[in-house]
Amino acid sequence: MEDIQNKAKEEPHLKEQFLNSLFPTIELMENLIKRLELKEESFETFKLASEEEMTVLWDSLLLINDSLTIEDNSKKNGKKYKSFEELYGKETTEEYRPSLKEKKKSNENNNEMGFRPSAQHCKNVGTLIQCGECDKWRVIYSKSKLSSHENDELTRFLDEIQYTCGDTFYDISSSKGINIQSPHSTDDSLKKLFSIVKVNNTLTCNSPIEIPYYSSGLFKESLCFNCGAECEEENNYGEYFPYCEDCSASVENKKRRSKENKFVKSSKRKNV
Ligand SMILES: [Zn+2]
Ligand SMILES: [Zn+2]
Repeated sequence: MEDIQNKAKEEPHLKEQFLNSLFPTIELMENLIKRLELKEESFETFKLASEEEMTVLWDSLLLINDSLTIEDNSKKNGKKYKSFEELYGKETTEEYRPSLKEKKKSNENNNEMGFRPSAQHCKNVGTLIQCGECDKWRVIYSKSKLSSHENDELTRFLDEIQYTCGDTFYDISSSKGINIQSPHSTDDSLKKLFSIVKVNNTLTCNSPIEIPYYSSGLFKESLCFNCGAECEEENNYGEYFPYCEDCSASVENKKRRSKENKFVKSSKRKNV
């Protein structure tokens, strides 16, 4: 790439011709990408910024900080990451994965529920929600038993949303443009509902299935404690929580049940 950039300085037409020669490949890639979709939404592609657009952007950046130079495009004081050569082949652990670290820090002892995620609080709702990232079913808790009106309202809300582990219902509402935490909110009934109905926001996609899922006795599907996959009935009446075949083999310290739990009727809510 650097060679091409240097050559382009000597050869004025090289840049234009080089871009032209890439055009069929770019078009092919664009067409491929546009045919992909995620969660029923198609991918989009964007055209490369033109030189003119970049100049305009650059000029506006200089208004903010005129010490910037166009040749130096590295992040200032960029000590955050080690070089590839330094780390290649080195054993690493999850401890340093930035995305997990941030989540952990911000969520530790930061449960916004205001009450314990217990089996009783789970029974007050009897509904689960599925994470769109890890597919695990998460328990919805309520401080008090829901009226049928509140239940309907919750059902309507759940039908419209995308949930990911660690979200609160406040996060989800505000991402939908409903600011129920604002004192001027007009959506009073949702605001009231989510003052008692909660998901455990300290969960991450790595968290196991919550114990109230089992101890509430509401949900008959035996989900693997570790990965959340549905598993065979016969593995699931022992002293341990259920584990699927893969996790049975890979998890060393399996979680023991405090007492025998029965699985009875379930009510699940698919997060689509
Ligand atoms: Zn998840
Ligand atoms: Zn599993």
